[in-house]
Amino acid sequence: MKKVPSYIRKKFVANKVYSFLLESKITELPIDIKELCFYHDWPLHPYTSVAKHQSRSLEFVRKKLRSKDGKAYKLGTDHYEIFYDNTKPSVRQRFTIMHEIGHIVLGHLDDFNGINNSLTKYEYKILEGEANLFASLTLAPPSILQRLGFMSDAPLIRRFCNISSEASRYASERTEAQIRALFPSHMSQTLITLFHDYIHRKHCRVCKGAFISELEKPHCPYCGSKAIYWGRKSNMSKIYEGIEVDETSKALVCPICENNELQDGDFCPICSISVVNQCGKMSLDTDFHGNSWPTPCPVSLKGNYRYCPQCGGKSTFLINGLLKTWKGEYYKKLEQAEAPPPFGSEVLPDEDIPF
Ligand SMILES: [Zn+2]
Ligand SMILES: [Zn+2]
Ligand SMILES: [Zn+2]
Ligand SMILES: [Zn+2]
Repeated sequence: MKKVPSYIRKKFVANKVYSFLLESKITELPIDIKELCFYHDWPLHPYTSVAKHQSRSLEFVRKKLRSKDGKAYKLGTDHYEIFYDNTKPSVRQRFTIMHEIGHIVLGHLDDFNGINNSLTKYEYKILEGEANLFASLTLAPPSILQRLGFMSDAPLIRRFCNISSEASRYASERTEAQIRALFPSHMSQTLITLFHDYIHRKHCRVCKGAFISELEKPHCPYCGSKAIYWGRKSNMSKIYEGIEVDETSKALVCPICENNELQDGDFCPICSISVVNQCGKMSLDTDFHGNSWPTPCPVSLKGNYRYCPQCGGKSTFLINGLLKTWKGEYYKKLEQAEAPPPFGSEVLPDEDIPF
């Protein structure tokens, strides 16, 4: 059995958070705690189920586990289970479960024989501090918040990480220097790469299309609009249908004649349609002799893009009638959505978040 450290090992905790995020393949916020526990095979036991199962009161369970919020146990050599008080507010439950995961991941249950009463009050405080730090850095990863531009904005942290006001205030008080000390730039960069699609996910107010773009102010690839915001998916969020293309934006099969031998050139050898989805907008280029000629916008597009995110020009697939405009699909989806959604499934869009 190891000796409990005499201080909170911040750097050690940050390293564990880093490898935990990577290992758990977490790529977006807010973290789905239940899915995470399922992934790691850490069964979750709500206090009310334990009480019911044992025909005891909730108070009895809290006393028995010696915890008002939650507790992790090591069962057998390599198996952990988490108990938590599911009568607390949901943001608190999330923090509690992540705190218990912290005890597991930081090795507290292996190295210090669990969080039991043989610990001194001081030792207990150190381990609790480490688990709290783990929960905070995992639920509100500073590198990601910094990249999104709201590392000091407690209300936005609260909203996007789904944590309590208290936890978000605490997270918002970290300084850039503190973050750099915990997550040096190579670590931050790796996490940012992991969250790439989340960071660059955009939504269109007009057609409700969802897409990923690194451009700061893109056009919507489905309807061409510039009414774009960054934020959480709404239940209207939509990825429009399209034609399957390879990494050079070339259709795998000709959408007109179904010829699948499209190896050479940009046109189908059978029906001669352009099978590459590109921006169809031409601009006039002028050389130093004053001669101008039209040149196409050099952007390759995904198989379902009707517009070029960069210049808003129509795509060759749309121009050639290979893709329908967004409206048909949109209204079909709207009709389906008019049936009342299942209870509790409404998600409010974050339309007021500019990017
Ligand atoms: Zn604890
Ligand atoms: Zn749109
Ligand atoms: Zn063809
Ligand atoms: Zn373009």
